[in-house]
Amino acid sequence: MGRTGTILLAPAVVPQKESVSRSQVKSSSSSTENAATENAVRSALRERGLRCTGERVAVLSTLTEAAGHLTVSDIHERIRATGQQVDLSTVYRTVTMLQELDLVHAVALPDQAVTYGVVEAAHHHAVCTSCQLIAEVPAAVLAGVLADAVELAQAATGYTLEHGSLQLHGLCARCYDEASTQPFS
Ligand SMILES: [Zn+2]
Ligand SMILES: [Zn+2]
Repeated sequence: MGRTGTILLAPAVVPQKESVSRSQVKSSSSSTENAATENAVRSALRERGLRCTGERVAVLSTLTEAAGHLTVSDIHERIRATGQQVDLSTVYRTVTMLQELDLVHAVALPDQAVTYGVVEAAHHHAVCTSCQLIAEVPAAVLAGVLADAVELAQAATGYTLEHGSLQLHGLCARCYDEASTQPFS
């Protein structure tokens, strides 16, 4: 477990230096994909006995397609980019409500806006320390090593530990490329 180094990750969304320009990135998903995601989101809400309001469907669909974490204003901008009219405070309220319902969870990094991701399956987080993009790592990918980590942590602390959540820090593929192509100053 003593390995260090840069984690390379495929960016979940096209990272932009300024969050303002992030909104101008058109979603690459086709309308068929959008419709499939929305249907999946609707049935997930219904399964839990929750009403499928337009705001809930829009927020959950946006986060599902991002496959990573977004800030409330990122979510707002992406929903508006699809032509839906919704104001920022409504998105904020919806995200908060979805978080209370355990459909969405929050990750707070120091000095950064809180970002939200869907709670679909167990996952860990890979954080780009340059652009702050957070990608989700399926828990299954790390199940074996995490079991070892739990054992080592139990031996070190005497605690009985059952599960854990990892936050790994490094550079996303794009920031790694940018860093490696820039001449040293
Ligand atoms: Zn997450
Ligand atoms: Zn990055």
